[in-house]
Amino acid sequence: MTIKVAVLGSKGRMGAEVVKAVTNASDLELVASIDQNDDFNIVKNSGAQVAVDFTTPDVVMKNLALLIESGISPVVGTTGFTEEKIAQLQKMLDAKNGVSLRLVPNFSIGAILMMRFAKAATKFYDSAEIIEYHHPQKVDAPSGTAIRTAQIIAEERKANNLAKNPDATASEIPGARGSKIDGIPVHAVRMPGLVAHQEVIFGSLGETLTIRHDSFDRESFMPGVLLAIRNIAQKPGLTIGIDDLIS
Ligand code: NAP
Repeated sequence: MTIKVAVLGSKGRMGAEVVKAVTNASDLELVASIDQNDDFNIVKNSGAQVAVDFTTPDVVMKNLALLIESGISPVVGTTGFTEEKIAQLQKMLDAKNGVSLRLVPNFSIGAILMMRFAKAATKFYDSAEIIEYHHPQKVDAPSGTAIRTAQIIAEERKANNLAKNPDATASEIPGARGSKIDGIPVHAVRMPGLVAHQEVIFGSLGETLTIRHDSFDRESFMPGVLLAIRNIAQKPGLTIGIDDLIS
């Protein structure tokens, strides 16, 4: 049976790739695609079972409220989600049975492996910092992937009773040591020529380990997007990431 799919943000860089990928998948049917200024009723009345959202952090919550209300399960690639917004989503889902929502900070399989490898390395090193690199059109910083990676590392450091990163900085121009996500410094670079890249650097006595992932093309996110669409119905409610689908 084919899955009926809608795309929100269909004229954007990521949305346009999703339109192509869904159109080319024989088990999926693209039933609606909308961009800014299009009427949401196009999606609502399309019979879509799943809607992929690659819009912007300022409009995504409104889109998700409309989708959940319409009984359409969202697969969300848009970034910029705070704990507060995630709690709001949970509330909306609790009030509407039968809707699944996958919030995916990074659909790239390589990026997911990078996070797994970073988790595995954490307990062996005194220090961990993250540098993320993106194209200059990206509106949120740091990236959702960098935030998630920092959280994973912080959780792992806590579980292993590691002390804070050693750092004698006594005076600082604001931002020089990055933004701290759960105590892990995260540095963001924005530059033409980049797509989406991240380095996780670990340091200990006399050595460092760098785990680096590069997405050179937006196509790299599509296998993960299709995986999320195909498996959306399996888990009702809110799921973060696609780690559980990659083993
Ligand atoms: P983009 O090129 O700016 O695309 C966003 C699109 O959404 C634009 O066409 C925009 O139209 C449209 N839009 C704005 N408001 C809308 C609304 N209310 N309804 C429907 N469409 C609307 O951005 P992008 O590079 O594709 O990135 C989109 C999001 O995905 C960002 O948050 C980015 O960080 C994230 N991202 C996630 C992953 C991942 O793996 N999870 C990977 C890459 C990017 P206008 O241009 O007219 O405003």
